[in-house]
Amino acid sequence: MLNGLMMDTQLTVNSIRDFASQVHAASELVSVTGDGGVQHFSYAESFARAGQLANALLQAGILAGDRVATLAWNDHRHFELYYGISGLGAVCHTINPRLFPEQIQYIINHAEDRLLFVDPQFLPLLEKLADNLAGVEQIILLSDDAHVPDSSIPGLVSYESFIGAHSAAVPWPELDERSASSLCYTSGTTGNPKGVLYSHRSTVLHAYAGALPDSLNLSGRDVVMPIVPMFHVNAWGIPYSAAMVGAKLVLPGARMGDGKALYQLIESEGVTVSAGVPTVWLALLAYLQASGQTLTRLQRIIVGGAACPVSIMEDFRERHGVQVIHAWGMTETSPLGTINTPRSASEAEPGPLRDKLQALQGRPVFGVDLRIVAADGNLQPRDGKASGEVQVRGPWICSGYFGRESATSHTTDGWFKTGDIATLSPAGIMHITDRVKDVIKSGGEWISSIDLENAAVGHPAIREAAVIGVPHPRWTERPLLIAVLEAGKNVSAADLLAWLEGRIARWWIPADVQFVAELPHTATGKLNKVALREQFKDYSLPPE
Ligand code: AMP
Repeated sequence: MLNGLMMDTQLTVNSIRDFASQVHAASELVSVTGDGGVQHFSYAESFARAGQLANALLQAGILAGDRVATLAWNDHRHFELYYGISGLGAVCHTINPRLFPEQIQYIINHAEDRLLFVDPQFLPLLEKLADNLAGVEQIILLSDDAHVPDSSIPGLVSYESFIGAHSAAVPWPELDERSASSLCYTSGTTGNPKGVLYSHRSTVLHAYAGALPDSLNLSGRDVVMPIVPMFHVNAWGIPYSAAMVGAKLVLPGARMGDGKALYQLIESEGVTVSAGVPTVWLALLAYLQASGQTLTRLQRIIVGGAACPVSIMEDFRERHGVQVIHAWGMTETSPLGTINTPRSASEAEPGPLRDKLQALQGRPVFGVDLRIVAADGNLQPRDGKASGEVQVRGPWICSGYFGRESATSHTTDGWFKTGDIATLSPAGIMHITDRVKDVIKSGGEWISSIDLENAAVGHPAIREAAVIGVPHPRWTERPLLIAVLEAGKNVSAADLLAWLEGRIARWWIPADVQFVAELPHTATGKLNKVALREQFKDYSLPPE
């Protein structure tokens, strides 16, 4: 082999920090916190504070490979933790506070977290768990001294006093790019959560890919606000991509589900691009509708984490001139897997057909190898019809779970089995139709619960919809539509089913509709179909 003569510098989170501190020193970071309101920092100031934090961690005895956990919203302190912890070679373990307390306890103990950085809002939760967290040496409250409440937790200190006395100059170690940088547990609906352990290399490569024009298209001219939480898959890598390109970063704090607060921040900070799951956009759109306000500065949003209903796309485009870009990914894929950026001018044409195309999950990003495999193990053709499980591989796809060597989700030839069912079009566009566990098989054919749900929320009186399969003597299973009505609106089951006719294949029309006040969700805001099936286990279809 003839080796190339290129330098082998390591792709580390520290390299992003060093670059951004020099080249984008004056770029801004805006943060909303419970104790400080809206605060403005430069990247240089933020990285200096991350340095102070790193020295405080060193003094606390944190070593390379140690796990340091966060239970925190998107704000400047969380950003500092990302860089301060990983920069030392320790692992920034972000915990989803919306998980059940027993799951949080499991995760902290399984990860063997040594320190916990906690937003004051989650203190009551931790006070209940503290006795069962034997390995945690210290809990640090993400606030200043003035906002540390009385607590049963001994030795509670504020973040500001924890970092306060320390210098910003750090003896940062030379890290191997393959070493672990951060950790995030997936929250499946069954079994214990599983830890996905990102490396410096995977994080940097994913940040490059995330910034690309056909990905999130981030640049120094952008003002980017991740509404996707920093506790969920590193906020889709935005805290790294933004620093790489020098985009102004707006971190909205605890009020990520508050449409009014989001609107005000978008307008006052001039946010051009934002990213989040469908639910947050529904909250924003509901506020805009009720208040009659329009978005004047936002150009585009990236929607992922669950299928994006076409109604969201229409609303943003027609009322606010905002482009919606649909993306698919998972905790195990860092998360960027596919993204649906228009490839050509004709694909970008506005209108219903474009919306239909845009509702698909898109093409893989360079770096993600993707294939569709049938239940019998055969590779499916890319014909837009044949469906199967999505399998992926690439430098930012997980190769196993932390501390759970036996919990493999991989094929023998090294592909990660996503558990999602999809088709791939000849143009390489992926369409997710279901989770493997949620598929509805009717008369030997599959009905896509996701497509049905999206069709149903297109009705103006339907706020949210879920479809599950229920046993049927002739067809094996038929779809049952379970829907939540929009406040103040109404539609009968018969009218809703009639409305669906012509919008979906005839044999997909649900066998029945049940209205509920709310649907169960997982900690990451996805429909919890396991809970829903349990709720409807005694349900039987009306006689035909
Ligand atoms: P998580 O690991 O919690 O981020 O969940 C990943 C799962 O969310 C995927 O396996 C999909 O089932 C679902 N998901 C993410 N993005 C999309 C999307 N754009 N459309 C449909 N499902 C999605």
